[in-house]
Amino acid sequence: MLEGRNFTIYTDHKPLIHAFTQKHEKCSPRQIRHLYCIGQFSKYIRHISGSLNVVADSLSRISEIEIPSPIDYKEFAKAQLPNEEFQLLNSCTNFLKFQLLKVPGMDTELFCDVSTGICRPFVPKEFRPRIFETLHNLSHPGVKATVKFVGDRFLWPGYKKQVAEWTRCCVPCQRGKIQRHTVSPLGTYPVPRHRFDHVQIDLVGPLPPSRGYTYALTCVDRFSRWSEARY
Ligand SMILES: [Zn+2]
Repeated sequence: MLEGRNFTIYTDHKPLIHAFTQKHEKCSPRQIRHLYCIGQFSKYIRHISGSLNVVADSLSRISEIEIPSPIDYKEFAKAQLPNEEFQLLNSCTNFLKFQLLKVPGMDTELFCDVSTGICRPFVPKEFRPRIFETLHNLSHPGVKATVKFVGDRFLWPGYKKQVAEWTRCCVPCQRGKIQRHTVSPLGTYPVPRHRFDHVQIDLVGPLPPSRGYTYALTCVDRFSRWSEARY
């Protein structure tokens, strides 16, 4: 649809805006390949903030989920009531404002904080792991995004620290995400003193076939730099 047409890319990925103007030496080979691929289609790239970009990824963004469904809200409400933690939080807080609100479509009422303009139910201890799993497992976002995702919808004392900890411990996240790039330094070898002290061998190929062979074994003497190649 887009090939051969003039169009402008609007993205919330800010580094991409400047990526085409920076020096190529700064980029890794992979970044150069990515830029080359994008550059084939269009070189007009403008920034748009994620919140304004309403047409993009409406399917991947979960904004409508107020309350995840695998929660039994009757049990949830029951657990809220005799909760000491909640009583303590309610009595000694200045900035939180709790109200008893009805769950839409159910005859259950939950204590919610309304100080932020959104109603955030207080989560009793036994429901916290399930709330975390339900929200985090939707797209496995990182620590910051998960904390915000949970904090925009729910509330319990020390949720930020706990959610951050659980996110770091998430096994699928650890399997699927690269947390640290290890770059090994170049090795150093002492200069040999005699011929054939140190011979380097390598397999080179695939090459155009020669007498049916496509690989060559190469040997280089490091002292004299004499080289041999055999198929
Ligand atoms: Zn995860």
